[in-house]
Amino acid sequence: MNNTIHRDVIVIGGGIIGAAISYYCSKAGIDITVLEKKELASGTSSRCDGNILAIDKDPGFDSQMSLRSQQLVHELNKELETSFEYRNPGSILVCENDNELEAAQKWVQQQQEAGLDFKMLDREDLRNESKFFADDLYGGLECKTDSTVNPYMLTYSMFYSAQKHGARIHTHTEVKRVNKDPSGRFVIETNNGTFTANKVVNACGVWAPLIGEMLNVEIPIKPRKGQLIVASRQRLVGLRKVMEFGYLISKFGGERVVDPVTEKYGVALVFEPTESQNFLIGSSREFNGFDIKVNHEVTKYIAKRAVRFYPKMADMTVIRQYAGLRPWTEDHLPIISHVDEVPGFYVAAGHEGDGISLAAITGKVIEEMISGKETTIPIELLRHDRFKERVIS
Ligand SMILES: Cc1cc2nc3c(=O)[nH]c(=O)nc-3n(C[C@H](O)[C@H](O)[C@H](O)COP(=O)(O)OP(=O)(O)OC[C@H]3O[C@@H](n4cnc5c(N)ncnc54)[C@H](O)[C@@H]3O)c2cc1C
Repeated sequence: MNNTIHRDVIVIGGGIIGAAISYYCSKAGIDITVLEKKELASGTSSRCDGNILAIDKDPGFDSQMSLRSQQLVHELNKELETSFEYRNPGSILVCENDNELEAAQKWVQQQQEAGLDFKMLDREDLRNESKFFADDLYGGLECKTDSTVNPYMLTYSMFYSAQKHGARIHTHTEVKRVNKDPSGRFVIETNNGTFTANKVVNACGVWAPLIGEMLNVEIPIKPRKGQLIVASRQRLVGLRKVMEFGYLISKFGGERVVDPVTEKYGVALVFEPTESQNFLIGSSREFNGFDIKVNHEVTKYIAKRAVRFYPKMADMTVIRQYAGLRPWTEDHLPIISHVDEVPGFYVAAGHEGDGISLAAITGKVIEEMISGKETTIPIELLRHDRFKERVIS
């Protein structure tokens, strides 16, 4: 192994999760190297929205973890050298029937009891929010702490600062095999040479199971496709993120009152005004392997759904469309964990539709685990072995 490069910690995957890990680790003085098979942020982290949300998180552990991540992103906005289009306007969910409004009231109460800044909105509040809303909406709810970023820029910004702290990044370096040598070191073979490391972090998003297989570790993550429309802003429809309450139902797998095609593709309104004066309009949720081709039927139903909530947007101009793959886990929580059967191997993947929101807390917790510190949040519910007793088809 003459030409082998040895590093203390190697992160596989150069998406937003790999970026956050390399930022917090390098800042803490850890010798860290990132291996990315294509360009940085070429996976899901450049095929998504940029919301840092608590509004759609299960009250309790999930929303507390998101809140802590929001606070970290607020700090990153001051710490990082390159701007990432951070704004902090809050976000809202709108309800289109009595049942949703009732469920929203419960949701707000639970979140308030957990200490989060949530409040109900009535019809009048919605009219004040945007004069473009449909007249028949029942009301909604607001989460004041929610923020938004450009996810691609945040990924690059964290990598840029990580490099300044000494992190090394190898792009176009695809990990082909990972083993352990007799001394317990990891041997990582790539198309760009062999590396050895004391510790390896698998931050490969939807591809994390493939890295796991190399070490005989099962990682139950599946790709869940989501599609978005980028539309140009002709009028100032609204300044902050809006979702329909049905988005929550679609995310957590409940029953909605919608037509069969909308249901089939899990289409629910997500409306995000970007800093560049466009709108991101989405989205869909479906299990369709690793396919990221835009499906025009889905586009049609996303547009239909947007017009249901904003009828006057029917003349919007579509600039482009794209789809990405959310790294889904069965219980909708990421895996941020040491893998006990392979000492030194960590998984930081499976963030589904929350990887932008949870990148900062993930990076911080992995740094704390590697450094042997007490973690900022409890990590029991994020353990890799929580799936052991169950079989995921
Ligand atoms: C339509 C859509 C909208 C979304 N909106 C939001 C949102 O508003 N807010 C939010 O919080 N989240 C959102 N998400 C989810 C979020 O985008 C993801 O959770 C997040 O990007 C996952 O980041 P990651 O770093 O784990 O994965 P990725 O960005 O996919 O990074 C993994 C990297 O690993 C690399 N890799 C894979 N295999 C190898 C190998 N063998 N060797 C080397 N490198 C390898 C890949 O090339 C890739 O760059 C959305 C997702 C979608 C699809």
